[in-house]
Amino acid sequence: MLARRAGRAYIRLLLKVRLCAMLIPLYCPSCGKELCVRDELLGSQVRCPACEAVFRALVGMEPPLTPYSLAPEPPPIRWGGGSTRPEAEAYLGAPLTPLDELILPHRGPMILTLGILGIVFSICPIAGWILGGLATTKGTDDLDKINRRRMDPSGRGMTSAGRICGIIAVILSTLNTLAGIFFLVMYLIQL
Ligand SMILES: [Zn+2]
Repeated sequence: MLARRAGRAYIRLLLKVRLCAMLIPLYCPSCGKELCVRDELLGSQVRCPACEAVFRALVGMEPPLTPYSLAPEPPPIRWGGGSTRPEAEAYLGAPLTPLDELILPHRGPMILTLGILGIVFSICPIAGWILGGLATTKGTDDLDKINRRRMDPSGRGMTSAGRICGIIAVILSTLNTLAGIFFLVMYLIQL
């Protein structure tokens, strides 16, 4: 009864979360990563936080249909060395003012799900360690990105909740293992 109500509330929470709150989703034309951009930055040059490629943010950028290696050779527009700048300018036909304004969508629902599953599966310590460990490392990683303004900050609460669940899952899995070893030793002593 209580579990079912909690489950329903959890699903409602997941449905309520939009991956790109107040942001427009688009895909990096270089690496295909799903990204978000604030609407006032549409039309300006942006830099992919994943692959550092600089491109113009446009509405309706679709994920690449072909893998990068099969797609027609794109011009090497990488920001960094000053030598690549004129080339990029020629290709994009506009002054290059790359902005670190592209934001990765947060992964709060996934991290929270991993953390909760980790707690549930801590009765089977290996599954609990893997799921909890994933929630902890991904959660730590994403909170760092949110703090550096590289990820949608609306996912902060969910991400840190998932990370805490992950830590609890790892602790529970460890305690379960220790208890298992303890009972095994007791059993062997009694033989
Ligand atoms: Zn990219």
